[in-house]
Order: sequence, then C-alpha cells, then structure tokens
Amino acid sequence: MQEPVGECRDCGKTIFCDGGFLCGVVLENHELRCFDCDEKAKNEEQA
Ligand SMILES: [Zn+2]
Repeated sequence: MQEPVGECRDCGKTIFCDGGFLCGVVLENHELRCFDCDEKAKNEEQA
C-alpha cells in the first residue's frame, strides 16, 4: 500500500511510502527528495 508522504523539493514529484519503505530520501532539514534528484545531487557533489 502506498501513502503519499510529501513532494520532492527539487522536481515536485509526489513521494510515497510503500509498505513502510520510503521511495525517496529525507534530507537533514527534513525536506524530501526523490531518488532521481538525489542521484543527480550526489553526482553534482562529486563533479
Ligand atoms: Zn525529484
């Protein structure tokens, strides 16, 4: 069962919690980010 938890702070996509598994990342400031944007952010940090 999927429950909407919030929106990705970068792309605005709704992030769901799927059976207790969050389909995204919670940032230190409690904002949410989807995996796609989190990957992008990580890549940019490394670059
Ligand atoms: Zn996103």
